[in-house]
Amino acid sequence: MFKKILIANRGEIALRIQRACREMGIKSVVVYSTADREAKYVKLADEAVCIGPPASAQSYLNMPAIISTAEVTDAEAIHPGYGFLSENADFAERVEQSGFTFIGPTPESIRLMGDKVSAKQAMIKAGVPCVPGSEGALPEDPKEIVRIAREIRYPVIVKAAGGGGGRGMRVVHTEAALLHAVQTTRTEAGAAFGNSAVYLEKFLENPRHIEIQVLADQHKAAVWLGERDCSMQRRHQKIIEEAPAPGIARRVIEKVGERCAAACKRIGYRGAGTFEFLYEDGEFYFIEMNTRVQVEHPVTELVTGIDIVQMQIRVAAGEKLPFIQRNIEMRGHAIECRVNAEDPYVFTPSPGRITLWHAPGGPGVRVDSHAYTNYYVPPNYDSMIGKIIVHGDTREQALARMRTALSEMVVEGILTNIPLHRELMVDAKFIEGGTSIHYLEGWLGQHRR
Ligand code: ADP
Repeated sequence: MFKKILIANRGEIALRIQRACREMGIKSVVVYSTADREAKYVKLADEAVCIGPPASAQSYLNMPAIISTAEVTDAEAIHPGYGFLSENADFAERVEQSGFTFIGPTPESIRLMGDKVSAKQAMIKAGVPCVPGSEGALPEDPKEIVRIAREIRYPVIVKAAGGGGGRGMRVVHTEAALLHAVQTTRTEAGAAFGNSAVYLEKFLENPRHIEIQVLADQHKAAVWLGERDCSMQRRHQKIIEEAPAPGIARRVIEKVGERCAAACKRIGYRGAGTFEFLYEDGEFYFIEMNTRVQVEHPVTELVTGIDIVQMQIRVAAGEKLPFIQRNIEMRGHAIECRVNAEDPYVFTPSPGRITLWHAPGGPGVRVDSHAYTNYYVPPNYDSMIGKIIVHGDTREQALARMRTALSEMVVEGILTNIPLHRELMVDAKFIEGGTSIHYLEGWLGQHRR
């Protein structure tokens, strides 16, 4: 096992990784920008090194600074967390070329999954169900593009092969709008992602977002750890996640989960990963794979009892997975609410000094956050400052625990979206379960006019 790991991230996930290291007896090195200098998790780390100014490009995305910090601190491995450099194949490659272990998949896997066209082709080959669409990138010939779209049937969605973060997509309802949409998406994608390849997919009108968590080791073993329902989204950003997904038959999930684990073996995947699907009318449609730990990993940890971050570290060190699929059991129900430093009504970011932070507790309640009373939320990064995660024997109990937890939570000095979560936890449709990815936006339109 590693003696020392460098954490190339910040905020709650940096603290989460640090906790995993400490429990495993591994020393942690945290890199930080000047904006995060005062943060407690930075002081808690065994070693902390300032790598640059607040701007991410000069700190958390600064590959030479991160790698040279690993060199001077004698770290053996680098954990990238999520966001920042976590899905950057060039970074993974440079980490390994410099003699460190990248805690994540190989650069080849990251590259394969980072290009949505190649990812989809690999998934089709592996028997993972995909959204019907063009075979690979669209050709230049306009007649051919029109033919492909007719075959898929409208509405269709034009997507950039290199797209991410909800950007590089355009829905097309009629043939008249098709070629213009393809051209515009191509131009934008070329400028934004340095790759102008685009492809077509059937646009699903009212799907749910269901994803499958996988874990694979370097000895050809792979398992899936159940699913998460992440349909509660605003502008493609998830705000509530839960496991298991309400109202979907186990055998339907099992079929797709097994395909995901098999696909991992087929592509030689290692580490933790997530297969994202749209789910509509009883069918799963693969949209993309995330080759890293996700914000919402704790809901899976609570229902399976498996520490996903520790597993990432173990398999990166070459250990075998300590279980096989048959050993994995899902118990009860878990829900996560993301706490964002933002106005709960108009969603503008609300950075600044937290004058009072009181986190909830009690049975089945977990709070993953780097925040505390007197913590200053810097304006430079993502507005998520933590997560409240609850576990119960049933979904009803988990909902009740979340309501209690939210009622105890006090954050003063900045605005947070906690009032929004309080309202959603008593919303009849959400309580019923199985809302689509458009539900939250529709709800906001009705309640927040
Ligand atoms: P990104 O990498 O930018 O997150 P995804 O491929 O994961 O892109 O898609 C992001 C979101 O866009 C999905 O969660 C869904 O809301 C919507 N979307 C993508 N593809 C489709 C589709 N074929 N039909 C309907 N909605 C889609």
